[in-house]
Amino acid sequence: MFSLQIVKHKMMKITLLLSFLMTAFFFNLNANAQQTRDFSKYEHKHAFHSPWIGNNKFLTDYLKEIDYENQENPMYSIPVKFYVFGKNNAPQLTDIKETIQNLNEIYAKNNTLISFYLYDIKFIKKKKFDKFGYYGQFPFQSIFRHKRKVLNIFLVSSLKKPGKKNKDLEYAGACNNLNHTVIIANGNDGSVVAHEVGHFLGLKHPHKNYNKGKHNQEAVDRDAFRGGLFLRGRNCEINGDGLSDTQAQPYLVKYTDKKCNYTSLDLTDKRGEKYNPQTDNIMSYTLGKQCRRNFTPMQKAVMLYTAAKRDKSGDWKLSFEENNLKITTLTDSFEPDFCTEIASVLKDKIVQEHTLNYFDTDYLKFSLSKRADTKKSKIVIEDGKYGNADLKIEVLKLNSDDIYLLEDKIYQKKQGENLIISLEDFTFGNYCLRITSNNKVNNSEVASYKIVSDISKPEIN
Ligand SMILES: [Zn+2]
Repeated sequence: MFSLQIVKHKMMKITLLLSFLMTAFFFNLNANAQQTRDFSKYEHKHAFHSPWIGNNKFLTDYLKEIDYENQENPMYSIPVKFYVFGKNNAPQLTDIKETIQNLNEIYAKNNTLISFYLYDIKFIKKKKFDKFGYYGQFPFQSIFRHKRKVLNIFLVSSLKKPGKKNKDLEYAGACNNLNHTVIIANGNDGSVVAHEVGHFLGLKHPHKNYNKGKHNQEAVDRDAFRGGLFLRGRNCEINGDGLSDTQAQPYLVKYTDKKCNYTSLDLTDKRGEKYNPQTDNIMSYTLGKQCRRNFTPMQKAVMLYTAAKRDKSGDWKLSFEENNLKITTLTDSFEPDFCTEIASVLKDKIVQEHTLNYFDTDYLKFSLSKRADTKKSKIVIEDGKYGNADLKIEVLKLNSDDIYLLEDKIYQKKQGENLIISLEDFTFGNYCLRITSNNKVNNSEVASYKIVSDISKPEIN
C-alpha cells in the first residue's frame, strides 16, 4: 500500500551522442624498449582514444581546472532508473534502497563529487527473468529497456552465464556502455554496483590485458616504455587501465584470498618485476569484494570528465533550471525513503540530516516500547545546513495489518525555529513521520533539516 512519488523531470530533447570511445587499433610491434625517461614528446599525439591515454597529466590538469580540492557539494547528481526483473524471489523496494545507498556511500566516501538519486522504477514481473541470462537476456533487454540520459540499473535475483559441463556460472554484475545500462545481481557487496557504475563512467580494469603478452601488459615499472606505431609512451599510461596511479596487477581473483590478502608474493610481470598490487581498488578483481572501497585520484578524474562529456544538456548538474524553477537534487545518505516500506529508521539519540528536494517526501520510522517513559520522550527537528523551508510533519501509526494517519498529530515547523514534538500522548507501537516541505511555495531549491529522537527509558536494575 504505497504510491511511487518519484519526481519525473521532463528531460530535454537533445539526443545523446554516441559515447563509446573508439580504441585505436595498432600494429603489434614489439619495439625495443628504449631507456628514455622523457615521455613528454609523446603527449597529445593520439586521436583515436581517450585524451589521458599516454598523457595522464591531462587528468591532474582536469582536477585543477574544475577546482576539485575546493568543492564542497557534489558536482553531479545522476538520475537512476531501476528495472527490476523476476517473479519469484525478485528484488524488492528495500533492495533498490540498499543498492542506491551503497552506491552513494562509496562514491561519497571517496569524494568523487558524484551522487545518484532515484528517478524511476519499473518492475518486470516475469518468470523467465528469475535467472537472468548474461549473454542472451542482458544485451537484448537493454536494447529495449533503457532511458536516455540516465543511469539504467537492471536489478535481478541472479545473473547466469552457461559454463562448461552445463554448470551455470553466476555473475555479480556487468555494464553495457552502448546503452548506458548496468546489471546487478541482488545481494552482492556494495562494491559491485560501485564497480559497474565505474565502467559506466569510463573506467577500465587495472588488470586489462595483463595476460596478453609483454607488449600489451601493464609493467610494474612506472617508467617502462611502450613502443608502437600509433601508441607509444609511458607503458602504465597506455596499458592496463591507462592510469599510472593504479598499480600493475594480475587477475587478482586467482592471487588473493577471501580476506583480500595478496597471496602470490613471487609473481612477476613479463619483464621480471614483482607485482605489488592494491587489493582495495573498486575496479580490481579481488576474490573477496568487501575490501574494494577506493578509487584513485585519476580514476575520479576519469569519472568526472566522463560525466561532464555525457551530460551535454546539464541534467546531471546538482542544480538545473526547469520551467523557470531552479531544482537541486541533493541526495542524503538515507534516500530513497519516499514511502513507509523503505522509511529511514530513526535511531535513538542519533542526529540525522535529511534533504528534501523539489516534490520530495521523507518517511522516517521509530518505535515506542512498552517500557518507554513517553512523558519525557520527544522528537526534535531543527534547520539543516543546506537551505531551509517550512516543513509539515504528519504522524502515521503502523500496525501489523494497516497504516493510518493520526489526524490530531500534524505539526508545522517554521523556518528558523526548532520543533519539539512531545511523545506524551503516544501509545506504544510503531510510527512513521511523513515530512514534506513547502519548497514550491517558497521557490526554494532544497530544504534540509536535522532530526533526532530522544526516547526516555527507565534504567533496569
Ligand atoms: Zn568490471
